[in-house]
Amino acid sequence: MAKMRVVQVPQPKAPFELVEREPPEPSAGSVRIKVQACGICHSDSFTKDGLMPGIQYPRVPGHEVIGIIDAVGVDVSGWAAGQRIGVGWHGGNCGYCDSCRRGDAFACETETLVTGVTSDGGYADYMIAPADALARVPADLSSIDGAPLMCAGITTFNALRNSGARPGETVAVLGLGGLGHLAVQFAAKLGFRTVAIARGQDKVPLAHQLGAHHYIDNAAEDPAAALQKLGGAKAIFATVTSSEAMNSVQGGLAANGTLMVIGAVDAITIDAQALLSGRRSIKGWYSGTSIDSQETLAFSALTGVRPMTEIFPLERASEAYERMMSGKARFRVVLTTGS
Ligand SMILES: [Zn+2]
Ligand SMILES: [Zn+2]
Repeated sequence: MAKMRVVQVPQPKAPFELVEREPPEPSAGSVRIKVQACGICHSDSFTKDGLMPGIQYPRVPGHEVIGIIDAVGVDVSGWAAGQRIGVGWHGGNCGYCDSCRRGDAFACETETLVTGVTSDGGYADYMIAPADALARVPADLSSIDGAPLMCAGITTFNALRNSGARPGETVAVLGLGGLGHLAVQFAAKLGFRTVAIARGQDKVPLAHQLGAHHYIDNAAEDPAAALQKLGGAKAIFATVTSSEAMNSVQGGLAANGTLMVIGAVDAITIDAQALLSGRRSIKGWYSGTSIDSQETLAFSALTGVRPMTEIFPLERASEAYERMMSGKARFRVVLTTGS
């Protein structure tokens, strides 16, 4: 086989390097993937900046991968070369620990496998993934559109469908960025009365284009009061990275409402009185496992939910990463290999 290109992080906080390597061979239970597209996610900074303990360098980031199975290792059932698949953050699980046997594969107790963190990810022409980390990609979903759905998409879709809110009820999405622009689309397509909350009047057309039924400008008005005027939200999806913004929406929850925390913040302030008087709750949501990814892709293909993307070739990964981290991208950045 010809050599492949990878974009690796040589050591924490060092610049990316574009290097050539021999394509890896799939070990037992794994497949080799010919990468077509890989989204860039804020969580790639875990690898770039060494934010998780025990990462071995050099490491290739990337956990929003769509590609074609190119070689299959021994002891793999149900997958074959030529199938188009996706791989996300969840990089596999053991299948035998108590959590796995309980159906909570996300909480696998024996090993925490994270694509692009504990193994090389999708900033590459080829990568290896365990078979149990694979999701099937519908034929009518492009690889570029599918890539961001493997993290930003599954995170929002899976949180929405597990929030306890039912179709017809009011849900709010705080933030209209990489996660939020997908969350609003999913919420509207799932049948929720959807409220988008962001800063500024300039985002009103975007919010409605994405399917929001109401828009709250939290720079101009108190979002909690505005939500209560709409009857309160059964769930609020906090996609932002500002704890202040999360604090400011909690008062907008209806009775039995849940604040779903899916953006990473250091700490939030909890109004205990509001929790207990209205039986409200605050919950985090892990993105999900391969079947959740597969259902996210299928739902998106079915209903027309699509990420808005900026596309860069693999060799411009460094520039693409900076674009993503600057917060200026509209709304997800995707690397393509040309395959
Ligand atoms: Zn991610
Ligand atoms: Zn396990």
